[in-house]
Amino acid sequence: MNLSALNRKLDAISPGIHAFIDDGAVHIEGQCSSYDDVVRCGILAARLHSRGVVNDCTCADVKEEPMRLPETQDLSLDGRSFDVVVIGAGVVGCAIAMELSHRNLSVAVLEKEYDVAVRASSRNDGMIHPGIDLHPGQRKTYFNCRGNRMYTDLSQRLGFKFIRNGSYVVFDRWWNLLTVPFFHLRAAMCHVDGVRYVTHRKLGRLQTSVASWQKGAMFLPSSGIVEPYQATVAFAENAADNKASFFFDTAVLDLICTDGLVSQVITNRGTIHALSVVNAAGVYSDRIAALANDRFFTIHPRKGTEMILDKDAGSITESVIAKVPFSDVKQHTKGGGVVRTASGNILVGPDAHETIQREDDSTSSQSITDILAKHKATVPSLDKRQIITYFSGTRACTYEEDFVVERSTKAGNLVHAAGIQSPGLTAAPAIAVEVASDIDNIFSDIYKRSIKVRSDAILTRKAPHVVSEMPLEQRDELIRSNPDYGQIVCRCEQVSRGEIIEVLRSSLPVYNIDAVKRRCRCGMGRCQGSFCSPSVAGIIAEEAHCSFESVCKGLGVFVKGKVKETSR
Ligand SMILES: Cc1cc2nc3c(=O)[nH]c(=O)nc-3n(C[C@H](O)[C@H](O)[C@H](O)COP(=O)(O)OP(=O)(O)OC[C@H]3O[C@@H](n4cnc5c(N)ncnc54)[C@H](O)[C@@H]3O)c2cc1C
Repeated sequence: MNLSALNRKLDAISPGIHAFIDDGAVHIEGQCSSYDDVVRCGILAARLHSRGVVNDCTCADVKEEPMRLPETQDLSLDGRSFDVVVIGAGVVGCAIAMELSHRNLSVAVLEKEYDVAVRASSRNDGMIHPGIDLHPGQRKTYFNCRGNRMYTDLSQRLGFKFIRNGSYVVFDRWWNLLTVPFFHLRAAMCHVDGVRYVTHRKLGRLQTSVASWQKGAMFLPSSGIVEPYQATVAFAENAADNKASFFFDTAVLDLICTDGLVSQVITNRGTIHALSVVNAAGVYSDRIAALANDRFFTIHPRKGTEMILDKDAGSITESVIAKVPFSDVKQHTKGGGVVRTASGNILVGPDAHETIQREDDSTSSQSITDILAKHKATVPSLDKRQIITYFSGTRACTYEEDFVVERSTKAGNLVHAAGIQSPGLTAAPAIAVEVASDIDNIFSDIYKRSIKVRSDAILTRKAPHVVSEMPLEQRDELIRSNPDYGQIVCRCEQVSRGEIIEVLRSSLPVYNIDAVKRRCRCGMGRCQGSFCSPSVAGIIAEEAHCSFESVCKGLGVFVKGKVKETSR
């Protein structure tokens, strides 16, 4: 398709929509009648195969809400200088911070929320994808394949749970079997090892909860699972152990560029000087790029809803059971499915819906009903009554449906790790390696400084104690040495006072109830914290030396007067 053909097609969607090329990217502007049409125009423009799509179309029926900003307004960071400022503490920003912190560089991570992994990085399936359903030429495929292989070593070194439990892509029609050679071909092209066809009979034996009328499945042994927030916390804690500074409640509001370089980062807590900047701002990564006058892609958020079942339902599978994706091509979801999480719950979802709101965490009963109906076709025993909670997250999709991991052409010291939609959790460690090498090049090209991995870099992290998973003798010994480990606070997940204190004394402590929950699962069980939250708040108050009343659940600042920085 050429530009005039594109303009004709855009005009047919909404009269007056106009496309033009600027700096290799296709820009579209005009007024559409609905947000769906805005997205349709963007998808159409992506067919031009330009550098990227900048979609400036508006619509009358719905307006985008402004970015959620922290309440904090102070000058506590004014005048601070760092070699690298990373914007965003999702899994991508934290993996990048970890990689950079091993080098002779001073690193700061700026995050507008109260903790790491508050946005997409805690609102996902936790699947370490095999990558078979990605397009062989895409950057996503490259980073997914490398990232998947890195998780074994990372989980061992950094002490977080990673289980390579494999996934079954189940066929529900006989004609699906014709696609078996296609799976093998894709596996070879995407470097996915060990893919094999499992017959109907064998599937029935291996996965007893799968419907008896299924016609077999492809088994993908390289598929794995993590608790996504625990992996992100592990990356962040290792970065903090290596002297990276984390600033929460700190939003980047503007970038000042001088002579083609970002020189100052304006935040709600003052102006920070940076020799280089990494854009890992998730759904706001196009806005950060725009602050540096580098507009060549647009994020169109795509919401996904997930539900978590009680651990009683854990026997459904030890693995991941997914429906063959053909029926959902338009949904742009790798499908998730019925997923056994690293902690033994069953997670079902997600779906995929375009939304104008970048931080749309709302859930609807319609989504829950639809997701359940879809997966009941594969696993009939799924039961709505087993749901203990549900949540939504938004994927940071570009119209090219690919990641943007590259040095900016407008600001020579800015690196984008942008548009990281699924499988961004899987890809994060590999993206971090690439971004760190871009930063090395920035320092050698611009500042003539050679960047090296420090010989004293700490490459490991001690796994926190998980009392409920310890053998009895070991548990006994631990309780004898510290009775706090024998005092159970969260009865559903069997989390002890000792474990809570341990996370509050870690290298990246965050003093609120949700942060504790993410780190040691206190409040993640059937009662969802109804019973243990007051006790957790009490322990936080003791550890932070503040009043019980000042401890927050999540949003907002935790302890008044406490410095919201972690660096040693
Ligand atoms: C429903 C769903 C299911 C998924 N399932 C999987 C899966 O199974 N496997 C997989 O590999 N991937 C999955 N993904 C994708 C994965 O979750 C994301 O790709 C990944 O979390 C992206 O990480 P990130 O760090 O780029 O973004 P985020 O986690 O969104 O982090 C970006 C951070 O930047 C901060 N920020 C933004 N603007 C500013 C600013 N101006 N100043 C300061 N801070 C700012 C935000 O607050 C946020 O914390 C899923 C995603 C969704 C939504």
